[in-house]
Amino acid sequence: MKIVTRQEAKALKLKRYYTGEPCHRGHYDERTLASGECITCHRIRIQGMRRKRKEVMSFLTAGTTLGVMPKKEAA
Ligand SMILES: [Zn+2]
Repeated sequence: MKIVTRQEAKALKLKRYYTGEPCHRGHYDERTLASGECITCHRIRIQGMRRKRKEVMSFLTAGTTLGVMPKKEAA
């Protein structure tokens, strides 16, 4: 893969670039210009977010009907 610095990628209006250096997790991969993270890390992060959202949703809807607030206990 051709080595392109972030500055070059920016100048060429590329969405991705490749430094030839491993990311902080050790992936040799292209990086996104937007965040500077490699595409493997990016994918991992997106998958993690999806999984987390699913967990939160199943927690929130467990035992209740979606959109219906649980009744307050009488004091
Ligand atoms: Zn990475």
